Amino acid sequence: MTIALGRLLDEVAGRIIAHAEELTALDSAIGDADHGLNMKRGFEAVLADKANILAKPLPEALKAIGMTLVMKVGGASGPLYGTLFMALGKELPAEPSLADAARALSTAVEAVKARGKADFDNKTMLDVLGPVAKHLGNGSASFDSVRQLAHDRAQATIPMKAIKGRASFLGERSIGHMDPGARSSALMITAICDGLEAKG
Ligand code: ADP
Ligand code: MG
Repeated sequence: MTIALGRLLDEVAGRIIAHAEELTALDSAIGDADHGLNMKRGFEAVLADKANILAKPLPEALKAIGMTLVMKVGGASGPLYGTLFMALGKELPAEPSLADAARALSTAVEAVKARGKADFDNKTMLDVLGPVAKHLGNGSASFDSVRQLAHDRAQATIPMKAIKGRASFLGERSIGHMDPGARSSALMITAICDGLEAKG
């Protein structure tokens, strides 16, 4: 498929920026109330660099996005989302198929796991990204099923106890709140589905 990267960037960045307060509110419950601000700052920087990003082939564009996120998001999530996008850039061909996307996302999720020394069920972004990668790989994914899964997996972090990141300092008190990074991952995945689907 040909990727309309400009549209996808607008969708993802717009979605994150529009939900920044919600993400920060989630982080205020089990973290330090900066996840929305961090992500908004990062994606505003990505939008500011859009012309430069769009001039590159998809792999290099994804690497550039990843580097901007590392530099601008900060916190724990900046290097992790940066790793995700940089790994996608390394793995994806310029015109990826769905199978390419599934394989690249799986590899990128492994890179995020390694970077953060985390595993699934630790109550992090990985609890959305991992299941979505797996779902894409099983060959029966639709835009609706991916959006639904991302939403459900973010919800499923609510009863989890945080094992990694700042929320883990709360121990049992992290239970009962959605993980902010799981929510931001679900927002990005939904935005990508919307952007790809709008292309027709
Ligand atoms: P910080 O925790 O440094 O304030 P953010 O608030 O921007 O950074 O991001 C917090 C999110 O980062 C968490 O909700 C979680 O999803 C994710 N996160 C934190 N540590 C890890 C990790 N080791 N592996 C994967 N994701 C993590
Ligand atoms: Mg935080």
